[in-house]
Amino acid sequence: MIRKFFSRVFGRKLPGRAGEPAVIPHARHGIRREAISSGSRRVVETLQDGGYEAFIVGGAVRDLLAGIRPKDFDVATDATPEQVRQCFRRARIIGRRFQIVHVMMGAETIEVTTFRGHHVQRDGPRAQTDDQGRVLRDNVFGSRKEDAARRDFTVNALYYDPVTETVIDYHQGLADLGRKTLRMIGDPATRYREDPVRMLRAVRLAAKLDFSIDADTLQPIGELADLVENIPLSRLFDEMLKLLTSGHSLECLRQLRAEGLHRGLLPFLDVTVEEPQGRRFVTLALESTDRRVREGRPISPGFLFATLLWNEVLNQWDALKAGGERPIPALYQAMDEVLDAQAEKLAITRRIVGDIKDIWALQPRFELRSGKRPYGLLEQPRFKAGLDFLLMRAESGEVDAALGQWWQDFLDADGETRAAMLLQRAPDAEKKRRRHKRKSIPATEAASVEFPSSAESSESAACP
Ligand code: ATP
Ligand code: MG
Repeated sequence: MIRKFFSRVFGRKLPGRAGEPAVIPHARHGIRREAISSGSRRVVETLQDGGYEAFIVGGAVRDLLAGIRPKDFDVATDATPEQVRQCFRRARIIGRRFQIVHVMMGAETIEVTTFRGHHVQRDGPRAQTDDQGRVLRDNVFGSRKEDAARRDFTVNALYYDPVTETVIDYHQGLADLGRKTLRMIGDPATRYREDPVRMLRAVRLAAKLDFSIDADTLQPIGELADLVENIPLSRLFDEMLKLLTSGHSLECLRQLRAEGLHRGLLPFLDVTVEEPQGRRFVTLALESTDRRVREGRPISPGFLFATLLWNEVLNQWDALKAGGERPIPALYQAMDEVLDAQAEKLAITRRIVGDIKDIWALQPRFELRSGKRPYGLLEQPRFKAGLDFLLMRAESGEVDAALGQWWQDFLDADGETRAAMLLQRAPDAEKKRRRHKRKSIPATEAASVEFPSSAESSESAACP
């Protein structure tokens, strides 16, 4: 009965008992050759002209079949990385855990992967694993069939040949696509142990595709969630960034929490989303990020992580101020403490940490609306991101909405109006400010931060 259904819907050859793949013609899968990027098509054609097998694989085929525009087009081939490199003028081999070739075609960079074999082979090389079964290095090449078996989900193991316009399907991926189901190839628990990132991928891809996770695929996640702790920090960061910028970050985080997968990732998120104020802020930030991604507008990872961690900065900052620390040094200390604690769980790249700090450090400066300060702030390279952050704080109710409005008006105003908008400084505050200025500030701090004077920082009661 099922085999009959397959032959009618998906093509002549079935994913048969002998392990033969289904070969699905264009009439059944409907992928248009033109939907494939010209660069990746040329890479496939060049490799096939060189006598090798080559296909578009993975997410691109899945997305096209699901009616989503793919982010990128990866190619898989039976040529070794060295053979691939020799087929192209502009190509280089990269990677350690997985060696891949980057082929440059005009403005496109195409990732070309050699078919991978089984991790464990009776004779021949073995993939290295750690004591939990996690695969450390895996450059064992294999056949197309083996390559399909070591991909994660059935819908990710489809091979499209743009020359013959056929899709090759070993694991009934097309049927799972039709059922909108994410199903792990092989034994799910073993596959998660080999690579715990697959648990995060299950959550992310289900949210992105609006698929459900097959019951057997979902079941072991709760039990194995702690293995996320074994993922190398840089890989974890890449995956979290993909998740947060998937256009479905709210849904992803909801699902991560439901599966107990969030604990190792963003240590403060739990506390943050349990406080109504924090939840409102994080929700606003994620909604805005999802909206931007869906509209195809750029998003800034620094801004995103700054929002996710802000509530914790506020908590630490308050605690330090309550302990007698002056507001600005207290803010800097709180920032460092939060980022240090985060770094143990998730290696946010140095550049992004720099962006996060810039955005946070600007926040108290928005309180200063007298004299030359507002003009100086407008000139800051991260002013726009800082202001967007402030507006989000205002929207969540953490700071006075009038403060955000003042800055928006100030930004739009002409010179005369701006001058009229400036707040007046109290005369005794001015004296204090001069006295304070004469105190020496350590050179490094003075270069990186403009410390507002104590008089100015008390200018607005809304200062957090
Ligand atoms: P997207 O690009 O939308 O994030 P993707 O599935 O294309 O999703 P990539 O990281 O680009 O994700 O991976 C490309 C392909 O490589 C996948 O479709 C899958 O076949 C395979 N793959 C990726 N990560 C894993 C993994 N951890 N385990 C097994 N196979 C994987
Ligand atoms: Mg991809």
